[in-house]
Amino acid sequence: MRPELKEYNLDKLFAATFRVARNLGSSTPGEIKNVLKYTPYVSGLLEPVLATGQPAVTFFDLFNDYYSNIINARENGKRVVMTTFCFDPSVFYAIDNLAPVTLEIGTALTSMLWKRGSADFMDYCTELGFSETGCSSQRGAMGAYLAGLGAEINLVALNMGGVCDTNANAYNFAAQYLDIPYYGLDYPSELTTEEVREYHHKDYRELINFLQENTGCKFDIDRLREVLEEKKKQDALMSEIDEMQRLVPNPVPGIYHIMIYAARYTYSGKKKFTKLLEEMTEIVRYNAVNGRSGLKNGVEKNRTFLVYIDNYALGISMFEWFEKKGISHMGNILSRTFNEAAPYTTGVPGTTYQIDTTSLDTMIDSLADINARMPMTRTIRGPYDAPNMWLEDSLSLAKQYSADCCLYNGTPGCRNTWSNIKLLSRDLEAMGYPTHIAHADSFDTRVETWEATQTRLEEFYQIRGLL
Ligand code: SF4
Repeated sequence: MRPELKEYNLDKLFAATFRVARNLGSSTPGEIKNVLKYTPYVSGLLEPVLATGQPAVTFFDLFNDYYSNIINARENGKRVVMTTFCFDPSVFYAIDNLAPVTLEIGTALTSMLWKRGSADFMDYCTELGFSETGCSSQRGAMGAYLAGLGAEINLVALNMGGVCDTNANAYNFAAQYLDIPYYGLDYPSELTTEEVREYHHKDYRELINFLQENTGCKFDIDRLREVLEEKKKQDALMSEIDEMQRLVPNPVPGIYHIMIYAARYTYSGKKKFTKLLEEMTEIVRYNAVNGRSGLKNGVEKNRTFLVYIDNYALGISMFEWFEKKGISHMGNILSRTFNEAAPYTTGVPGTTYQIDTTSLDTMIDSLADINARMPMTRTIRGPYDAPNMWLEDSLSLAKQYSADCCLYNGTPGCRNTWSNIKLLSRDLEAMGYPTHIAHADSFDTRVETWEATQTRLEEFYQIRGLL
């Protein structure tokens, strides 16, 4: 890693950026313009997010809190737990002395806000011995923490073992390198049988034992109930936004998707995330009642469903390009919660979760069920065309949202999707959904430039007559 990069602490850099960004909420347009002029590295994210109004201020405030919590963890007697976006972090907030660090969110932010660090951090993991063919979504931030350029990590806890080898291996590598305790929940390739349900419940109890042993803290039942009740409100708001997205034109601004899932993976169960969702829901309701599109220019020409994730390596160029072309972003695999009220669930028993706060046992079972239905752990745990898996979910979602076409963005390190994306694409095409496979890496700009990605997108939409 270049020595100059070692002069920066990643957590402090993000906290400071979000603190300044949060305060821009009370600035005049002229003041904001001047600030952005002097902040070329971050303006690509700040400018379009700030354009969303009040939700932007709450979003920046939430991320300032999140990174401040990590920075001050040691001073406040907290342990820092490294985790993944496929794991619902609400359980950490039910233990008083834990501060979660979610690597994939850190990697996406590094790609968007700290581009000159991004590639060095990814390569640093490889220098230490981690596979360079692994998923890039962990490596961007992981390199910084392994190099000591962020908070000291005390333990690792995550979903994944069975469903995503590259994710599980990344965290396993970090735990071994840092010589700290590790627990990874495991996943059978099926989701709905009683046997699998029991397995998840038992496995989650082991995770709780692990957390208690390694933090010296017992779960506070009242606090856990409070966190889960908050989560119920959040699920209801996300379902309402999802439901309104079915309207034509779609009243949900595309950028809301990335804001919602970034906040969900870091602040699930926290009141500030509820506030963000309430502010967004109010705006979407207004758009829906008035027949307004969520697109800035108000003209919806196409509805695109993203069958996997978004592209973060290019700032949020993809969202901006969608805006320019009049393409409504209909969400992706990360936007979905699979709570029982979600409008897109396939209706097969056992595919959704319920939050039951009656007792400690029901709450722990609920947490296990939620985690078994997080993105990737739910949808790609088994063969892509098995019941309730990637193909069925994609078709169900594309139909629900009246999508005109589908788009795949991912990372070349994702064996779980690259191994069968052409089959999925073939099947989606056969069902009437033109499907484009982007070759870019969602986190690593070195794989394909935005110009190349954009040219291929232009070609797809034009030749398939989608615009
Ligand atoms: S993108 Fe693929 S490799 Fe990366 S975490 Fe998700 S399933 Fe795993």
